[in-house]
Amino acid sequence: VIEVRDLDKRFDRTLALQGVELTIDRGEIVVLLGLSGSGKSTLLRHLDGLETPTSGSVRVLGEEVPRLRGRRLRALRGRVGFVFQQFELVPSLTVLENVLTGSLARLRGPRLGLWSYPRRLKLAALGHLDRVGLLDRAYQRADTLSGGQQQRVAIARALMQEPEILLADEPVASLDPESSEQVMALIREIAMDAGLTVVCSLHQVDLALAWGDRIVGLRGGRLVLDTPTEGLGKAEVMEIYGRVATAT
Ligand code: ATP
Ligand code: MG
Repeated sequence: VIEVRDLDKRFDRTLALQGVELTIDRGEIVVLLGLSGSGKSTLLRHLDGLETPTSGSVRVLGEEVPRLRGRRLRALRGRVGFVFQQFELVPSLTVLENVLTGSLARLRGPRLGLWSYPRRLKLAALGHLDRVGLLDRAYQRADTLSGGQQQRVAIARALMQEPEILLADEPVASLDPESSEQVMALIREIAMDAGLTVVCSLHQVDLALAWGDRIVGLRGGRLVLDTPTEGLGKAEVMEIYGRVATAT
């Protein structure tokens, strides 16, 4: 479902990605591992059409992403959910309203509050909140939740699109170890249930090994590692990959 060929991305003088080749099949759970500045976010952003390649090809769900514009780009983005490090919830809205904004791409016209959403979407939103264990927080303001809870709301919001692919850019980088594990376990559970393809960037080797089916390592914009996690030890990863773990 994802095919990246010879992807280069240059920002002024920085070569953020160089010759990246990556094929990901439906249902795979892949970790992008790499130090700060290695190109993880830039690569993920190409998969959702948020960056345009300097050269190379990015095919997602059968579409050549850089060629998409307007309606066709929005259609692709509707099939690809994105979860960010900083959750990006609207703090003054309730949890339920935040989740509902995930369905906006599927609706026409502006939405001015809870009452303006169709009942079936409200029910779907409550269902997703239940799935992430936050049904009892639906009517609370988003900014009254803990970081881990906010990230679970962001996951519920992404699920409102009924995505086929979930991209997550360091979803647990600002969480404590316990909430990190909870959030990662939740993403995995949901992905397995729904047959979602997941690409998630992390910078902790331990978490990557425990969580992913496959690790793709970036260093200085180059893909330097691509291996199943099955039977792989931390020492091996460190040896192939070099000095990766700044915060394990
Ligand atoms: P982190 O772990 O800190 O999030 P990352 O692996 O996500 O790092 P990227 O954000 O993809 O790294 O950045 C890769 C390189 O591209 C960095 O050198 C960065 O400075 C550069 N870069 C990324 N976005 C831009 C931009 N919009 N303009 C200029 N340079 C950029
Ligand atoms: Mg990043």
